[in-house]
Amino acid sequence: MQNMNLDTLVRRNVRDLKPYSSARDDFQGVAQVYLDANENPNPSAYNRYPDPLQRELKKRIGLIKGVEPKNIFLGNGSDEPIDLLFRAFCEPGIDNVVIPQPTYGMYAVSANINNVKIKSSLLTEDFDLDVNATITTIDSNSKLLFLCSPNNPSGNLLSRQKVVDLLKVFSGLVILDEAYIDFAGTESYTTMLQEYQNLVVLQTLSKAWGLAAIRLGMCFAHEGVIDILNKIKPPYNISILTQQVALAQLDHEPRKNQWVTEIVRERNQISAALAALPVVLHVFPSDANFLLVKVRNAKEVYQKLIRAGIVVRDRSSVILCDDCLRITIGTPEENQKLLSALNAINGL
Ligand SMILES: *Cc1c(COP(=O)(O)O)cnc(C)c1O
Repeated sequence: MQNMNLDTLVRRNVRDLKPYSSARDDFQGVAQVYLDANENPNPSAYNRYPDPLQRELKKRIGLIKGVEPKNIFLGNGSDEPIDLLFRAFCEPGIDNVVIPQPTYGMYAVSANINNVKIKSSLLTEDFDLDVNATITTIDSNSKLLFLCSPNNPSGNLLSRQKVVDLLKVFSGLVILDEAYIDFAGTESYTTMLQEYQNLVVLQTLSKAWGLAAIRLGMCFAHEGVIDILNKIKPPYNISILTQQVALAQLDHEPRKNQWVTEIVRERNQISAALAALPVVLHVFPSDANFLLVKVRNAKEVYQKLIRAGIVVRDRSSVILCDDCLRITIGTPEENQKLLSALNAINGL
């Protein structure tokens, strides 16, 4: 959709909502005495509420990502914008969302929590989009389409042309989850935000930036979408601790890039080494920091790795992922331990 009508897309109760107005919303200037928020006046680093709109952090992220602050929403992990998108746009029991499978499980969980019907389509055997199958799945109540590129658990990028095809035909919001974009070496879809008003890009500090513990998810979208998310979010959703740590760590972009280079190099080596092992049947191509690996008898291999002190993710019950394990790329030492443990497995 080049032009979308947000007023008809958003839930009526959200459109008509008068949002909570916090003390920090009502007064934004600088004062000598703050007696407006029932805070404890005794100074400590933490006695004041944080900026509800995280302006300084958004400015910093905006510079790194090439996105205007007005097009940025920050959440308590990516999970928060995912949940808020359901709450803003999907009428429980009436609307539905379209999810090409297999993909990240949180979209379906969030749909279920919000009592929103899921319409699943299937990715192809090599985990790319099937545009026709996806379009067939869409109906007039489909509000969100979830795409993950690079996809979890398969690791591959979706074809850009197919994503664009769907952006053009879908009248709801296309949520494009780029949690693993740093490892892919391709341009982010944020460059298409001007062209496609229905595009919502999700990124996170949890993977390449090494900051999973601070919980900071980023959502890039049309200003109208961002305004709606701001309207319904908990007022102080990002703590001062998270804002401060994020600001400090974002100064270390070269270190992040160095980590990415090392992880990608390691991924390519481990991928080749795994493929040569007798227990491994197939290693799927990856643009992320993990590998989907088809083995002889995933459940047995999983247990044997546990006994060797190594935990991977058993994805063998996921559709199109029969006998597949998802293996995160670790340090070179950790990866060598994985290879030796797998090499020691015979006779499955
Ligand atoms: C890890 C991951 C995330 C990140 O979630 P956070 O809540 O930001 O930690 C988002 N999407 C996908 C597909 C992931 O694999």
